Amino acid sequence: MAFEGLADRLQGTIKKITGKGKVTEADVKEMTREVRLALLEADVNYKVVKDLIKRIKERAVGQEVMESLTPGQQVIKVVKEELTELMGGEQSKIAVANKPPTVIMMVGLQGAGKTTTTGKLANHLRKKFNRNPLLVAADVYRPAAIDQLETLGEQLEMPVYSKGTDANPVDIANEAIAKAKEEHHDYVLIDTAGRLHIDEDLMGELTQIKEDTSPDEIFLVVDSMTGQDAVTVADSFDDQLDISGVVLTKLDGDTRGGAALSIRAVTGKPIKFAGMGEKLDQLEAFHPDRMASRILG
Ligand code: GDP
Repeated sequence: MAFEGLADRLQGTIKKITGKGKVTEADVKEMTREVRLALLEADVNYKVVKDLIKRIKERAVGQEVMESLTPGQQVIKVVKEELTELMGGEQSKIAVANKPPTVIMMVGLQGAGKTTTTGKLANHLRKKFNRNPLLVAADVYRPAAIDQLETLGEQLEMPVYSKGTDANPVDIANEAIAKAKEEHHDYVLIDTAGRLHIDEDLMGELTQIKEDTSPDEIFLVVDSMTGQDAVTVADSFDDQLDISGVVLTKLDGDTRGGAALSIRAVTGKPIKFAGMGEKLDQLEAFHPDRMASRILG
């Protein structure tokens, strides 16, 4: 599980301070030092850590007194609130278009988990909200990607719009949206092409799909195992496409988890979902407060 190392360290630090009836400035200093090291070790962006620690210090020293909590608990409450805020505060909901269908473009580098996440999201929309999505195979460069989405469609018993590898992705997306209107699909999930690295051709194609289809959401799928790279990738995609949210995959893996903590602060875009495994039901809505509780115990 992600954050295990971070959680262990922070929980150890917290134990030392929880019971304290009186918290001195030296205690706060020691604790923030530990929190800082734990976050850096978890691969959280340096500047993000610096800003976070500054806020924790300011608030923890000038504590408002709450009678129900010991001073130690109050300091921890501050840390939890700041971590929650860092990950975006409130849970970010998925868009619903005024006039269906709601169009969601799925983007990301190859191997990040984009196609799997497209299937998972379709499953989530049906199970949680009783929606009827249409999946669209717009990654025309890799026949395997089209096959993969079709297989997911079969598993989910959901239709997949595909035209093989000869058609233009922009046309595929437009035709799929027209078909969704005819057949009363309320969501259209477009699985776009991924590459191993960001390149101009890819961004050009994605920009064209965006301009032509005016999606309600553009979700960037990033692999949390790639650490700081995930943050850099998110920043580049956001610059080019103005993404609306991030899906962090492979949070079930043995990752240091720092990406989850920095990505929102660096891009300003919310983390919408977390992938917690390879199976189609292993997608969770991302709740910053629950994630902070998981980390702090
Ligand atoms: P794409 O190239 O971005 O479309 O990536 P795929 O959807 O093909 O996924 C790449 C690999 O990552 C596959 O083996 C998936 O099963 C795996 N994967 C995707 N999401 C998760 C996740 O949340 N957890 C784990 N453990 N594996 C994942």
